[in-house]
Amino acid sequence: MASPVAIAAQAGKLLRERALRPRLLAVRSQAGHLTPRRWLNLQEYQSKKLMSEHGVRVQRFFVANTAQEALEAAKRLNAKEIVLKAQILAGGRGKGVFNSGLKGGVHLTKDPKVVGQLAQQMIGYNLATKQTPKEGVKVNKVMVAEALDISRETYLAILMDRSHNGPVIVGSPQGGVDIEEVAASSPELIFKEQIDIFEGIKDSQAQRMAENLGFLGSLKNQAADQIKKLYHLFLKIDATQVEVNPFGETPEGQVVCFDAKINFDDNAEFRQKDIFAMDDKSENEPIENEAAKYDLKYIGLDGNIACFVNGAGLAMATCDIIFLNGGKPANFLDLGGGVKEAQVYQAFKLLTSDPKVEAILVNIFGGIVNCAIIANGITKACRELELKVPLVVRLEGTNVQEAQNILKNSGLPITSAVDLEDAAKKAVASVTKK
Ligand code: GDP
Ligand code: MN
Repeated sequence: MASPVAIAAQAGKLLRERALRPRLLAVRSQAGHLTPRRWLNLQEYQSKKLMSEHGVRVQRFFVANTAQEALEAAKRLNAKEIVLKAQILAGGRGKGVFNSGLKGGVHLTKDPKVVGQLAQQMIGYNLATKQTPKEGVKVNKVMVAEALDISRETYLAILMDRSHNGPVIVGSPQGGVDIEEVAASSPELIFKEQIDIFEGIKDSQAQRMAENLGFLGSLKNQAADQIKKLYHLFLKIDATQVEVNPFGETPEGQVVCFDAKINFDDNAEFRQKDIFAMDDKSENEPIENEAAKYDLKYIGLDGNIACFVNGAGLAMATCDIIFLNGGKPANFLDLGGGVKEAQVYQAFKLLTSDPKVEAILVNIFGGIVNCAIIANGITKACRELELKVPLVVRLEGTNVQEAQNILKNSGLPITSAVDLEDAAKKAVASVTKK
């Protein structure tokens, strides 16, 4: 058995890593690495809808797409105080800034008219927070909810943790906007309960977490009950994470989930069709959505060499080797496993629709993929799209000889490369020549 301090320190690390992940992804993609989307994140209003359907306590709320709708929602709520919240996937909204000049993605007011005025400065504008890219993320919807007084803010998350091969509940009595700092500076204030997925959550575990979060008297039972309900939700919907921050307490003695974030792995999709249908994809780039239609994964970067690859590993290798040879990738299109000729055509169409692209590098390793199918797709795309930029192709693996012949006999100006290094050199040379 590890000591409680060691466990808490480990939980702190877990929490920091989890909180850092969206930022890491943003940084990595800016640095030119490939991070294909492999999960679904729900907006707060979607998460809270699921929670309230499972008996978890959330505030009454409406969702609005326009300032007018927000105003009407505020009137309809008929609440003493209203909280207006921008709906984006990133955290830290409270301390975020809009490019309309408005400060704060979460506002409290007693006046429905003010809700309308604030919503006007939120909807259609970008909100930048600690967890978004610099330019922020466009806000399409706002949540208009009944505000409640908060006497204490705690942190609660349930996550699927690889190192424990199962669910872990992580909590801290010091929740709220600065939880990352708590995890870093006071790891002893981070508590953890490991759940045996077959036995489920025990009453004693829920009670202990409620106590560790600092809930006293009847609030302790209430908090334990909410924790159990959140766990049952987590399990039922196949989530990888349910995070509530703040998991708060009101002066009237109620335990309420004031914020909510639920994440899923794509592997949950076949069992959770209704939930995955909620994915509005509005935070994707349009080109990512277009690519997804053809089962392709697209990542935009800021260089000038378009890369067409199969598999995330090969994509990262391609990215690195382009950098090593002094070039910069413009984008990545990942073809994945089973390939059809039409997909190759669509891939070229997408790659060349980016005006930054000055050369295309194809790096396909045929294992399951038949290189001849790729070669036919490439020649067809070159002809039909009247390709105007240099094209360097490296194919390897299944049926590669036939593929080489198809390319050679096509009469098209395609540069063949013998290996990845050669391909990268030729692609970089073709853009620096000009
Ligand atoms: P985040 O900044 O993206 O995590 O957004 P939150 O939903 O957590 O809101 C940020 C902060 O606003 C919370 O930590 C609370 O302090 C405060 N807040 C949110 N909703 C309410 C509410 O209904 N009443 C009060 N008094 N404060 C709220
Ligand atoms: Mn929050």
